Amino acid sequence: MRDAIIIGAGISGLVAAYRLKSLGVDALLIETSDRAGGVIRSETIDGYLIERGPNSSQGTQELMALADELGIRAEIVEGDPKAPAYVYHDGELHAVPMSAGAFLKSRLLSARGKLRLIREFFVPARKEESEESVFSFAERRIGREGAERMISAFVSGIYAGDAKKLSVQAAFPKMVNLETSYGGLFRGMFAKAKEARKNKAPAGPRSRRSCSFRQGMSFLTDTLAERIGEDLILGCSDIDLRYEIVSPKGSSDINLKSQISNLKDSSDIDLKSQISNFKSQIPNFKLSFNKSGIREEITCKSVIISTPAFAASRLVAPVSEELSHLLDEIEYPPLAIVYLAYDESMIEHSLRGFGFLAAPREGLNVLGCVWNTSLFEGRAPEGKALMTIFIGGARNPAAARLADDELVTLAHGEIQQAMKIRGEPGSISVTRYERAIPQYNLGHAARVKRIDELIGQNAGLYLAGNYLRGPSTGDCVKEADRVAREVARSM
Ligand SMILES: Cc1cc2nc3c(=O)[nH]c(=O)nc-3n(C[C@H](O)[C@H](O)[C@H](O)COP(=O)(O)OP(=O)(O)OC[C@H]3O[C@@H](n4cnc5c(N)ncnc54)[C@H](O)[C@@H]3O)c2cc1C
Repeated sequence: MRDAIIIGAGISGLVAAYRLKSLGVDALLIETSDRAGGVIRSETIDGYLIERGPNSSQGTQELMALADELGIRAEIVEGDPKAPAYVYHDGELHAVPMSAGAFLKSRLLSARGKLRLIREFFVPARKEESEESVFSFAERRIGREGAERMISAFVSGIYAGDAKKLSVQAAFPKMVNLETSYGGLFRGMFAKAKEARKNKAPAGPRSRRSCSFRQGMSFLTDTLAERIGEDLILGCSDIDLRYEIVSPKGSSDINLKSQISNLKDSSDIDLKSQISNFKSQIPNFKLSFNKSGIREEITCKSVIISTPAFAASRLVAPVSEELSHLLDEIEYPPLAIVYLAYDESMIEHSLRGFGFLAAPREGLNVLGCVWNTSLFEGRAPEGKALMTIFIGGARNPAAARLADDELVTLAHGEIQQAMKIRGEPGSISVTRYERAIPQYNLGHAARVKRIDELIGQNAGLYLAGNYLRGPSTGDCVKEADRVAREVARSM
């Protein structure tokens, strides 16, 4: 018997388990694979520190506070906040302008495109409340050029997604809020800057732009795993989750899926509501899994599922068919990541910046390239430049499935052209995800609302993960911490 069980030890599950334990809740974290961290995975190969998942995280207040609490703040490395990101357009890399002067000089947008972007100030707010695609929102507010060359490129960088399919309400709620609350993006940004000046910065850890750890992103997840200690069990297979309904006479294991489906066509509303009352009044879960050839069984009051949505879908199927279906609908396109190394002297570009993103209509297969050696220190041997190149995603899933040597040739060929590289690279590794980043496509905001309602009807059941309230590492830390506190309060 445990108070809470967390299933899935990526950053979401690790933060949730760590927080529960820190609040005195008897929590157990179980994971299928033989390591903790999920997609966060740093590895050193021949002196190159590569990231198989996120290369960095936004240094959010929550992440900084967690690093302070874990005593690992000194291990944080920060990217230069003034270093620009680049966009590949018309055969060249263009720094994304970060000042009015740079904007006027930039050749990323034509003169007409710049005028259209400035005119955003006068574009009226949209009246309808239905979900809108990121592309349509951007085109409506800043014009077609800005939508294609800036917003679509950034969508590739964050979601490996398609701006025409992603829901702006679900993927970028803050942007929508600028329009609905202030009348537009510029109006909102100016008003917020004014508010911030008036209220001054709040006390506590400040938010930073981009950060990682000296040893790579895994340092954070490894530290969390270490603190959770023996309450983290790796290598669990065939995980099965059931609601166990405790009746006054004792406990009986009821598979609610079959119970409720039997009632589907029934007009017996009373019986349905009795079951739902039962579930909300006496929550208890029975979890079973295989570990080292032995079938383990644990009963608990609360379960946090922190796996990807498609795995959560299977786990909740015995509890709610509708919830299972909603989770299964979330698209995760494939992604390939290629790591290439060059002598710095081979590269004409200054490489001062984060790297570059490719706008969709530029004819590249590469979605973007991170300049690891420019981003943080200690990522490669002296005199070498390490590049992390992303291929595939929602707009080009077939490219992610090419053979390793084809991926390396493609990546080198395309970044060579963009960055003016003379010479051949050393290939370090390739990472593949058949299902990488969840897409907050049109309909996602409504889907999450319904998921929340169903979770609300199943007392003791919680979800945490990158498919609900933000895909970034910082979002996952914030959300997992919030869910863990809610569980602790319910005990
Ligand atoms: C390639 C890539 C690059 C990214 N780059 C960035 C970036 O630069 N910046 C940024 O902020 N964010 C980035 N992200 C997003 C961010 O890192 C992730 O959203 C976040 O790490 C996800 O954490 P999670 O714990 O929710 O899920 P995951 O990391 O997917 O963890 C889920 C865990 O559940 C386990 N699991 C699965 N099924 C089961 C099961 N049935 N039972 C038990 N356990 C199970 C898995 O093994 C895994 O350990 C990137 C993501 C990817 C994939």
